[in-house]
Amino acid sequence: MREFKCPHCGSENIQKCEVIYMSGTVSHTSTTTFGKYEATTEGQAATDLAQAVAPPAKMETSWVAGLIFGGLAYLFGIDSFLAGLVLGAIALVFFKGSIDAEKYNNEIYPKEYERWRNTYICHRCGNQFLLK
Ligand SMILES: [Zn+2]
Repeated sequence: MREFKCPHCGSENIQKCEVIYMSGTVSHTSTTTFGKYEATTEGQAATDLAQAVAPPAKMETSWVAGLIFGGLAYLFGIDSFLAGLVLGAIALVFFKGSIDAEKYNNEIYPKEYERWRNTYICHRCGNQFLLK
């Protein structure tokens, strides 16, 4: 049987990060009125503790930015080889970044997420650990 206690201080007052995160994150909608205009903002607010145990984030891809710069490189490249080269290089940076991000999201992120799902936090000493 596995022991449900902190490996650092031995306290049994431990909790799964996932549970803290879920219970500490609240969705909210707020409406602000400016005269006859109304603006609604929606979002998620997290308590400090929930923020501290937030799951790993997926990396952003920038395929769209790459395509835009690729398109610009093509357009401006007709008139100016240098402009085409510079814009093309920027597009390549975005594509390369997106490939790396996809690779991280597909290969590393699932493992990180799984690891996070098994991570506990100790309410006595604040230690975060994996329960085996
Ligand atoms: Zn502890």
